[in-house]
Amino acid sequence: MQPERLETHRLPADFNRQYQALAGLDTRGFLSWVFAPHKPFGEVGVVTSFGTESAVLLHLIADVAPAAPVIFIDTGFHFDETLAYRDELVRHLGLLNVRTVGLDPLSEKRSDPARYLHLNDPDACCQLRKVKVLDHALRHHDGWISGQKRYQSHERSVIDRVEWDSARGKWKFNPLADWSTADLLTYQTQQQMPAHPLASAGYLSVGCSPCTTPVMAGEDMRAGRWRQHEKRECGLHRTADVIVAAR
Ligand code: SF4
Repeated sequence: MQPERLETHRLPADFNRQYQALAGLDTRGFLSWVFAPHKPFGEVGVVTSFGTESAVLLHLIADVAPAAPVIFIDTGFHFDETLAYRDELVRHLGLLNVRTVGLDPLSEKRSDPARYLHLNDPDACCQLRKVKVLDHALRHHDGWISGQKRYQSHERSVIDRVEWDSARGKWKFNPLADWSTADLLTYQTQQQMPAHPLASAGYLSVGCSPCTTPVMAGEDMRAGRWRQHEKRECGLHRTADVIVAAR
């Protein structure tokens, strides 16, 4: 499939060629090409939340490119279980280059000294503690990898494996876009990977502790996030900022 001609003036000149190079590759082949020694996409970082569905992508990265930069945004509000799971997975998988990044204390003191922002303006809180932090962490990267899957939500149902993050001017890859929950489970079981400690308590999607609740039967897997608000995404994956071939 040829990418749609959406805002092509903002696309890199080699977008179509690179898009075609990745088309048809399985996930391992896809990641092997992204991290090929000649760096066809420049410096690429992997962004992970060490959530309930993070292990498969990280296992593949550990297999294909164990020294790839893996970026974890520590908002200061994570569950202790998530931080413990991060340490366990890093050890288990042998990831060599995990970087925990977060808001600097001075900016927090200036913008949200009482740390209540998530209660009355979660968009501003995510912007401060996630989006700006990621923007800074990716400043020397040419692309980034996310673990998003299409089945996760209505908003994510249109993602492609290869996208252009026009807001940041970087490649964006979603290697697991077309994986199902069954695919993930099978892989995770075959590889005997540890599960997030909160998964068995109904936390199908785990974010910051004040903004995450368990999911009830029949609910969307992200229904437990920002339950008191209309908010559906943290802002790292703004649909309007991404050029997707299949949209
Ligand atoms: S998920 Fe909640 S606590 Fe975390 S950055 Fe967003 S609003 Fe703030």
